[in-house]
Amino acid sequence: MNFSLTEEQEAVRKMVRKFVDREIIPYIQEWDAKSHFETGILKRLAELNLMGVCIPEKYGGMGMDYNTLAIVCDELERGDTAFRTAVSVHTALNSMTLLQWGNEYQKEKYLIPQAQGQKIGAFGLTEPNAGSDVGAIQTTARREGDVYVLNGSKTWISLCDVADHFLIFAKTDPSKKHDGISCFIVERTFSGVTTKAIKGKLGIRAGNTGEVFLEEVRVPKENLVGEEGEGFKIAMSALDNGRFTVAAGACGLIQACLEASLKYCHERKTFGKEIGKHQLVQQMIAKMSANLEISRLLVYRAGWLKNQGKRNTRETSLAKWFACDAAFEAASDAVQIHGAYGYSNEYPVERYLRNAKAPVIYEGTREIHTIMQAEYALGYRKDKPLRKMLPSWPFAE
Ligand SMILES: Cc1cc2nc3c(=O)[nH]c(=O)nc-3n(C[C@H](O)[C@H](O)[C@H](O)COP(=O)(O)OP(=O)(O)OC[C@H]3O[C@@H](n4cnc5c(N)ncnc54)[C@H](O)[C@@H]3O)c2cc1C
Repeated sequence: MNFSLTEEQEAVRKMVRKFVDREIIPYIQEWDAKSHFETGILKRLAELNLMGVCIPEKYGGMGMDYNTLAIVCDELERGDTAFRTAVSVHTALNSMTLLQWGNEYQKEKYLIPQAQGQKIGAFGLTEPNAGSDVGAIQTTARREGDVYVLNGSKTWISLCDVADHFLIFAKTDPSKKHDGISCFIVERTFSGVTTKAIKGKLGIRAGNTGEVFLEEVRVPKENLVGEEGEGFKIAMSALDNGRFTVAAGACGLIQACLEASLKYCHERKTFGKEIGKHQLVQQMIAKMSANLEISRLLVYRAGWLKNQGKRNTRETSLAKWFACDAAFEAASDAVQIHGAYGYSNEYPVERYLRNAKAPVIYEGTREIHTIMQAEYALGYRKDKPLRKMLPSWPFAE
């Protein structure tokens, strides 16, 4: 066991921290207040080679290990959840899925420009009537010669208005539940694709989330990812990667809560002493600090399993469940520590609290992860190797 980061990982952590401190934190309150998604940040992340950090160099990425992706997400969410969400969706849910399940044609055409950050990828699974219950999706894909014709709608899709490529899950056999689902690469420019942002979100206001409508969209058969009927397995393995980055991001949110709270604890005095000297305040600090350590260890263990090329659904689910709950608690306590001032946007902690809720809902709600962990413990759920596994790291030439 080695608990230290490598020199390269440390260098990436420092680079992202500097970037966040200079280019996100000074502006984020305004972007959040105006519900403005600053696309320039994605361009800057691409310039820093961070849009495909764990994608092999031969496919346009930086070729670093999976825990380096976790470090990027951790540091980004210290700035704001919106930009970590963007990397989760683009790199983990979309690009890593193409790396794992795509064929050489798809990697050449779609993965390379995505890893280089020239094109943006999104992930379209959720529908108005199907979130946790993935088998209930109603979008259809009917085969007509050399194309599949897609009809339906997706909702709560991150990056909907800026993505160039979507992974869309649709039923090729509507008579079946999970076994009837297939996965397609859909380009924004395909005729019949339209998108619309959702307004009035509680948090992640500096991010872009919305609906994707598909009306008689003709998708070339070459854009079927994996085999017909394999879409559910592909979606679940994509979520193993997405959840990993959500968990890593939650660590960054706890880090931000801790930094803000420690500063305030030393500044604010009540009853003649710094509030940090009061034991009940210390209790909140201690919990935040412990949960940050625990969450990071759970994330790095999941990343280590990915580096080994092993299945990690159970460990990733645990990391995501624990870290997201811990981040929400940390944000709530950070507001508490700031008293009334925490309840206004004079301090960033109210944004942390609003942002911390979505990750407890997306990529498997708290309840779904609770059920998964119970099922593993009870022996009702077991993981088998998939037909295509995520490549182990170091990557083969
Ligand atoms: C900001 C944001 C960004 C998102 N981005 C994306 C994206 O990019 N792509 C995408 O495809 N989706 C995205 N989503 C959607 C997200 O993944 C879903 O919201 C999530 O899967 C939950 O689905 P639902 O909202 O339909 O809730 P439902 O599934 O309807 O659940 C409602 C409630 O019932 C509970 N529940 C459901 N089933 C059970 C059960 N069996 N046992 C116990 N409790 C249960 C849930 O835990 C929840 O509390 C995003 C959501 C948000 C908020």
